[in-house]
Amino acid sequence: MNEYDSERIYDIAKKINYEKSKDFNEINCYVLNTCHIREKATEKVYHDVGRLKKVFRNKKKPIVIVTGCVAQAEGEILLKRETYIDAVIGPQSIHRFNEIITKIEKKYKKVNSTHFDVIDKFDTLKLIKNLNNKISSFLTIQEGCDKFCKFCVVPYTRGPEFSRSIQELVNECNELVDNGSKEITLLGQNVNAYNYNGEKLSDLINKISKIKKLKRIRYTTSHPIDFTSDLIDAHQSSDKLMPLIHLPVQSGSDKILKSMNRKHNIEDYLNLIKKLKKTNPKVKFSSDFIIGYPGETEEDFNATLKLLKEVEYINTYSYLYSPRPGTPASKLKKIEESVMKKRLLIFQKFAGEIKMKYKKSLINKELLVLFENKVKGKNEFFGRDEFSNSVIVKSDENLVGKIEKISIINGNQNTLFGVTKNQDRKEFAA
Ligand code: SF4
Repeated sequence: MNEYDSERIYDIAKKINYEKSKDFNEINCYVLNTCHIREKATEKVYHDVGRLKKVFRNKKKPIVIVTGCVAQAEGEILLKRETYIDAVIGPQSIHRFNEIITKIEKKYKKVNSTHFDVIDKFDTLKLIKNLNNKISSFLTIQEGCDKFCKFCVVPYTRGPEFSRSIQELVNECNELVDNGSKEITLLGQNVNAYNYNGEKLSDLINKISKIKKLKRIRYTTSHPIDFTSDLIDAHQSSDKLMPLIHLPVQSGSDKILKSMNRKHNIEDYLNLIKKLKKTNPKVKFSSDFIIGYPGETEEDFNATLKLLKEVEYINTYSYLYSPRPGTPASKLKKIEESVMKKRLLIFQKFAGEIKMKYKKSLINKELLVLFENKVKGKNEFFGRDEFSNSVIVKSDENLVGKIEKISIINGNQNTLFGVTKNQDRKEFAA
């Protein structure tokens, strides 16, 4: 979502003649778009600004703006502690970027813009052309969250659930496709809670599936309780909807899910997976896990490992629990750090084995790969298959923007290497 916001900030700033800089030493404005989901996010801001100060010690100071969720959560503190920062802009105020930068240029006082004016934001953004011309683009369709998982800052930093108008989104999809995008990932903190005057995520998917030059649609991140039957059906009815579903679960233990206020249990979650597989047997899953949440016992952790085995996720994102200031979970007693770390290692080793087994199963198979870019300095092209697996192919022909059937020759946990149907299999000795 921050990547989408960064691109949109650039689209806005371009209106007052700001350009992306090619040389860091020559910048006159530095925008740090931040994420608050991980530990030490605020410290990272001070560190990055400190680095910037060193570079510009004997030069004219650039305008320094911190945007994103750290700005939202800690705006006033940032401005007081680091006077080099000129403005903090929360994620719901990025549309005010030009007005704020003009104030700073005119030597007004420091600016703290952290209101939740999300309607105003998208009303402004819809009038500004999306200039992103990547083969695979992001599009924010929904923001905020009403779920209040006890460990999460999103409901406080991004505000309540808000869905953009479906027509506005179809228009922006058309813009992106006209710019050259072949794949669009629909984004939302709770993307499947999307609801605009009764039109849901499945309606949006069905509408944009009709855009001829758009070849692939993805969406992230879903909450299991918002996975309604129409969305399950879309995985059968839209052949543009990719079969990898990111479905965060966080823990395999009902006790921990309850304590996290996740609003579903493991039985509900597995039933949903069963329904999705029945609707489209091709689908596979990835997920997020928090290891060492307060109160997690060996038994709870083993339940998480059991779930990992049962679902056979092809990708997992796992983190040690870290308390976010202001969240209810931050008041709970943490379990011992050494225990958490040991569990994370066990989890990641097991998840890695499952992933490796899956990647190995793809060797000698043919995958449909959409190529996104040329690898810098090499005659190689990077793309992704339907399940978002990274694939690299050597080629003299420009493959960017094409979907090709690729035979996989070898690979590791992160990347697969393959050849096009016209190439000799020995050609890729990775
Ligand atoms: S559903 Fe996701 S975004 Fe919402 S509170 Fe829970 S973890 Fe945070």
